[in-house]
Order: sequence, then C-alpha cells, then structure tokens
Amino acid sequence: MQWETVIGLEVHVQLATRSKIFSGASTAFGAEPNTQACAVDLGLPGVLPVLNEQAVAMAVQFGLGIHAEIPEVSVFDRKNYFYPDLPKGYQTSQMYEPIVGPGEVEILLDDGERKTVRVHHAHLEEDAGKSLHEDFHGMTGIDLNRAGTPLLEIVSEPDMRSAKEAAAYLKAIHSIVTYLGISDGNMAEGSMRCDVNVSVRPKGQEAFGTRAEIKNVNSFRFVERAIEFEVERQVELLEDGGKVVQETRLFDPEADETRSMRTKEEANDYRYFPCPDLLPVVLDQAYVDHLRGNLPELPAAKRERFQNELGLSAYDAGVLSASRAMAEYFERVHEVCGDAKQAANWVQGELSGALNREGLAIADSPVSADQLGGLIVRVIDDTINGKAAKQVFQALWHGEGGGENNSADAIIEAKGLKQVTDTGAIEAMIDQVIADSPAQVAQYRDAEPDKRGKMIGYFVGQVMKASRGTANPQQVNKLLKEKLDALC
Ligand code: ADP
Ligand code: MG
Repeated sequence: MQWETVIGLEVHVQLATRSKIFSGASTAFGAEPNTQACAVDLGLPGVLPVLNEQAVAMAVQFGLGIHAEIPEVSVFDRKNYFYPDLPKGYQTSQMYEPIVGPGEVEILLDDGERKTVRVHHAHLEEDAGKSLHEDFHGMTGIDLNRAGTPLLEIVSEPDMRSAKEAAAYLKAIHSIVTYLGISDGNMAEGSMRCDVNVSVRPKGQEAFGTRAEIKNVNSFRFVERAIEFEVERQVELLEDGGKVVQETRLFDPEADETRSMRTKEEANDYRYFPCPDLLPVVLDQAYVDHLRGNLPELPAAKRERFQNELGLSAYDAGVLSASRAMAEYFERVHEVCGDAKQAANWVQGELSGALNREGLAIADSPVSADQLGGLIVRVIDDTINGKAAKQVFQALWHGEGGGENNSADAIIEAKGLKQVTDTGAIEAMIDQVIADSPAQVAQYRDAEPDKRGKMIGYFVGQVMKASRGTANPQQVNKLLKEKLDALC
C-alpha cells in the first residue's frame, strides 16, 4: 500500500514590538524572571487592556505580504483555561473573526520547484508565561515575563505533502516575517514555534486521515524529524490494523520521537467568548493602503526579479533571496561590480564558504559588500586572474590591507598580484621553463598528438609558478601550446 502524508502547520510568530500587546511592559528577551509583567499582564482586578497599535500594523503587513484578505473588522475572544503560567485564567486571542483572512505562501523546494501553500487565516493573541522545571527541585518556577507578548498565529491549510515541504513552508514564513521586520525570527529564543498537524491516507484517497498534532516544535530540523517519525508511526499502526486517534503529541529531540500528551477526549473546552474589555478592531481602507504602499520587496518578488531581470538560475535566485541580509549584501555587490552572475558566484562560493567555516552570519562578514564588489571589478577587467582573486579575498577577510584602505586595489598593489598579460614577458618565462625541462619536452614530443593536451599541464604549472601566479592563464596555455608544438 502506498501512503500519502498530509501536513498543516500552525506557526506562532512573536512580533517585534517593544511593549506587550495589551500593556506597556517591555518585551525584551532575557530579563530577570518576573520583572517585566505588569498588572495588566497578570490580569489583576481593576485594570484594562489597551491594544498595541504596532502589533495590529505588523499583523496587517504580514497579511498584505501573503496577498491575504484583510477584513474590515476583527474581534478578540477569551480562550478560557487554567494553567500556572496563565494567571488571568484566559488567553486573549481571536477565534471567530481574525485580523488576517485567507492568503497564500509560495514555497521553494530543493529541485527548484515551486508550490503554493494556502493560509487559512492569521490571528493575533498574547503569549503565556513560562514554567521552569530546571533549578527547582520538586517544584516548578513561574516566569511571567513572556505573558502578554504579542503573537501572530498563522494557520495553514493541510496543503503540505512531505516533511521537506513543511520545512520549506516554515522557511518561507521565516523569510517573510524577517523581510518585513515584524519578528526577529530567532527560533532558538522561541520567537517562532509551530504546531505540526500530521495525518496519512492511502494514495489516491480523497478523504483525509485522522491527524495528530505535535506541539511546540522550534527548529526547521525538528519539524522534519518530528514529521518523519510521526508518519512512520501512523503508517505502522494502520498497516497493523490499528487506528490513529486524534491527539496532541510532544516531540522529544533527544529520543527523536513523538509521545502522546492528551487525546481528544481529554481536550479542553475553552468556552471562547468575545472579550468584553476590548473593542472590535476596525481598519479603514486608507490605513491598510498606507501599509500596503510601504511594504518592502518580499522574498518571492525578489526571487522573481533576480531570475527574470538579472538572469540568475532558479536555484541561485532562491538562495540569494532567502534572507533579507543575504539579498541586500548580494544586491550591493552587484551594484558595485555590475555583473550579477559573478556577484552570485562570489557570494555563494568564496564568501558563504568562509562564513560557514567560521560560523558567522552575513551581517558579521569581515568582508563588506563594497570590498567584494571592488574585488570582482578587478577580475572582470582582467587586472587579476582567478587564483590571485582568491588570494585577495583571503587578504580582505583577514584585514591585511589595514583599516580604511583594506580594498582589493590596495592589496593587489601591495602584493604585486597584477596579472601579467604582456605577451613578451610571458614568452620569456615560457622559454625559460622549456629550457629547464628537457626531459618533459622530450616526453611531449614522443607522445601521441591526442595525449599532448594533458601533458601541457606540467608546463602551465611551471610558468604560473615562475610568475608567482600572476600570468594570464589563457595566454600561458595558448602560447605554450604554440611553442611546444613548434618543437615537435
Ligand atoms: P482545530 O480547530 O482543531 O485547531 P483546524 O481545522 O483549525 O483544527 O486545523 C488546525 C490545523 O490542522 C490546520 O493547520 C490544518 O491545516 C491542519 N489539519 C486539519 N486537518 C488535518 C489533517 N487531516 N491532516 C493534517 N493536517 C490537518
Ligand atoms: Mg487550531
């Protein structure tokens, strides 16, 4: 039996507002426990929430970024449940009339293929506090700093068909929210986490199978691992004649498995009702249009432009537009050197390689986009050859040119890396190498003509060495072949 996987994601994005969604308390990460929760966040009697306008603007920007409908009216509801990290006894959320209606996210798969995942809606809500189990023997600590932090929950349709597609979707969301600047997207700090809904069905069957929901997965890799485990578990269960029960499960990265938390029968009845303390949010068209007019270019549009206007491959365009920092770096390099293909090759090759080796983000690159662009200019105008260019890059990376003057030109000058294209000078070096290598010349002469092509490499190497890598390799090749063949 062939099985098909069906996945829907509920992604929680922490919005980068400075204060909470309904209070003036700070949202900064990493403060001493319980120093950033005010009376409103704690739901003390006699206080009223006031909606943070910035959170509304960010939610709308996201909606516009995924081409969603933005309803004129949205409403906050109370989701009632008891938990120690929720002292109010309810979470303020949006159940029936969310701020963002149906939209679409384009995802990019490894083979360059694209797919559209539909978004059912996105709604605003507040985060709860945190229960701390470490450091407290036999007790649980409660930190309410996170209580009231604004979240945008983005609910997809069950449109994904593999773990890879789910990870690609999460990456696309990450890229959109960081391009928009509405979230720092820091998954390690919990700024983005998701609930993964997984079911399987026999291939060809239209009706969905029963799903399990895996809560709070907080990395791209864990999303893939959790789905892979869960699919295997469900398929095995079904093939053994069992039934999948609708339940909430937890992914344990250490054990690399999901475990049951609660089944549907144990699920809460949240008794949702409109929050009497908050007015409905009414957005007038001019406000929405104003936000629309100020949206930055988003990843999908950038990718499209990199491909169609700059002539990059689908793969290159995808990699270079994945993060805003990467895209901006690449665009600046391109602006300076004027050659998109060269700029793409250098950013993805030499630069990304060096960044990966040292575990640096592109924002912390020791080589600036202007410096790299300046280096490429000298490759394009033939001042230096490819080998010297790599040397110049290394020197730039290590700051060898020194401070302000650490430019490709300064390094080329200081190290004498200017390419030798003077035919006379190259010929002189070739003559010397030929004179110094009688044995190799004899071998070359005795070889079958079709074997000689390979043997020329030795001579090229010697000439390049004699020129300390600065001779123009194409010229060296051509002149060498002429001179050697003349000897045969
Ligand atoms: P609930 O009301 O229980 O939260 P929803 O219908 O809102 O359920 O769906 C929640 C998430 O689960 C959505 O992202 C949706 O795409 C996904 N989903 C729904 N049914 C399935 C299914 N059979 N298999 C996989 N995902 C599903
Ligand atoms: Mg739900």
